[in-house]
Amino acid sequence: MTDTIFGKIIAGEIPAELIYEDEHCIAINDIAPQAPVHVLVIPRQGIARLVDAGPGDQALLGHLLLAAGKVAEQLGVQDAFRLIINNGEGAGQTVFHLHLHIIAGREFAEGHM
Ligand code: IMP
Repeated sequence: MTDTIFGKIIAGEIPAELIYEDEHCIAINDIAPQAPVHVLVIPRQGIARLVDAGPGDQALLGHLLLAAGKVAEQLGVQDAFRLIINNGEGAGQTVFHLHLHIIAGREFAEGHM
């Protein structure tokens, strides 16, 4: 866990509607959605940034990808979604507790991010 808003949500200190949860992660709607579907998949274990993960986190990182796929299916966007991880301030990371953004429900131009 981390001393961030996501750490507090996972600890139950701040209420949040979980749209998915399992023993290793939760998923919530982003508070400031950038697309019609914008969900965050957040590991219960607090790793600040992707680069702070180590070999011991390999299974967790794989789990997060599988969970993201399940959440996408649950939301009916399994055929068109994008996963984003912002790593570091320079990339726009604002919450230093690793999380995956699932973005869907908008057009994705070919060849563009
Ligand atoms: P980052 O820029 O990759 O760190 O993404 C952090 C995301 O968390 C942003 O898209 C914010 O809108 C979102 N966010 C911040 N606080 C909350 C919250 O309390 N609930 C849900 N999403 C949040």
